[in-house]
Amino acid sequence: MPYICELSPGHHIYLDNQGGQTIVTLSSHAAGQQQQSSSSITTGTWVAPPQAFRVGGGVVFKIPTVQGDRFIQVQGSSLGMLPEMPPLASLQQMQVQQTASTPMQPMQPMQPMQPMQPMQPMQPMQMGNMRMSMNPMEMQMGNMEMRMGSVTAVASTPADSLPKPRQFCSQCGAKVEAGDRFCSACGHALG
Ligand SMILES: [Zn+2]
Repeated sequence: MPYICELSPGHHIYLDNQGGQTIVTLSSHAAGQQQQSSSSITTGTWVAPPQAFRVGGGVVFKIPTVQGDRFIQVQGSSLGMLPEMPPLASLQQMQVQQTASTPMQPMQPMQPMQPMQPMQPMQPMQMGNMRMSMNPMEMQMGNMEMRMGSVTAVASTPADSLPKPRQFCSQCGAKVEAGDRFCSACGHALG
């Protein structure tokens, strides 16, 4: 479940944990336009909801993971990992709420996929509500589905492997093959 933190009116940061990745989506409304950008950072799996602290003009997220606390600093549109929490005196805790979903545009979910070379290509993969498998290339995300490659090769069976229906000559009753035009026994025109 993603979390949302309001940095300032119209400027939100979404955090989501998918696999061992923390997906950070910066979202801002300005002059009627919405801008979003997502980055993914390897943090490990969360074990508790993230906390947010205002530091200077930015935010530091404290994310408890299976590998210990991770600190992600967001300053303007740039973000990065911090080795440790900044001094407590300068911190002002901010509210972080659960939200139903991140405001991702259809093409953006591809971005978190990039740092995943170690994956075994043949294994179906599950990340949150996103599912992906290879051969044929197939991706599902929520109720969205994408497929690449030759779907027909998978869906249809080659004609050779189909059993040919056996027919009989209407004239003499001899067995004839489906493709035959004339009966081999009596020469009757079939069809
Ligand atoms: Zn015949």
